[in-house]
Amino acid sequence: MKYCPHCDMDFIDSVEICTDCGRPLVDKEEYLAGKAARDAEEKKKQEEQQRLSSLAEEAERESAEAEQEAGRPAPGVYVKRADRYEDLRSSASAFLIVGVLLAVLALLSWGSLLGLPFSVPSNFMLRIVFTALAAGSFVIWRKTCVSAKEVRGQIAEEQETTRQLTEWFLGNYTAEAVDAAVRRENGELRPEVLALKRMNYIQDVFVTNYDIADQSYVDALAEQIYSTLYADEEAASERSGEEDAGSLRDEAETAQEEEETEPEEGTEPKEAADRETSGN
Ligand SMILES: [Zn+2]
Repeated sequence: MKYCPHCDMDFIDSVEICTDCGRPLVDKEEYLAGKAARDAEEKKKQEEQQRLSSLAEEAERESAEAEQEAGRPAPGVYVKRADRYEDLRSSASAFLIVGVLLAVLALLSWGSLLGLPFSVPSNFMLRIVFTALAAGSFVIWRKTCVSAKEVRGQIAEEQETTRQLTEWFLGNYTAEAVDAAVRRENGELRPEVLALKRMNYIQDVFVTNYDIADQSYVDALAEQIYSTLYADEEAASERSGEEDAGSLRDEAETAQEEEETEPEEGTEPKEAADRETSGN
């Protein structure tokens, strides 16, 4: 039997061209077998596509979770008001120095016109440039001074806020309470993960109890509280880190003893030698 795929019409075998559209006819069995194969191929492709996209979705979800584990969308490092004030002050003085130098240069460049005893040779454009740069530096200096003053006003406020928040936390939570809450939520954890979860827990406490917009401030606050709560632990881990550096504990200890005694003996002859050389 013959078939027109375009018009979906059957014809008897003797017909070669579709009476409807004029296209050449194909053998119906052959066409259908081919079509089944093509459909199967298409279906396979679609399934593969689906599999890939679901894999991609899963990977995306996992990386989003990992990001959350790693603690919030990385905010910048928090700069304390006091530090910010120091920064502004030092850049203000830098701009003042540059402004004064440029002003002197500008004045000298106008010197011949102003009848000054000294002047630097310069054309009109150069004079304008010096003057404009000097003026610009003074403007920036003024603006920086104003910002610095503003920031200075916030220093005490920030310190007070930080003090109150820290006191509030330490008054309501102990290291044991934080650990208990973290363990309730996560079960037993490896030390590195435990540290991260503790930090996250402290941050969460602040985010849920206080409406702090600046995530980097919350981070700084949590870090400070963490080091207060787990001061002993941190000191211990630092000590163990030092011990690890030496292959044996005894070795490290004897080395330390040697270090403690040797310098005293070692420095004296050196000082004596120094005195001798300086005397000569
Ligand atoms: Zn046709």
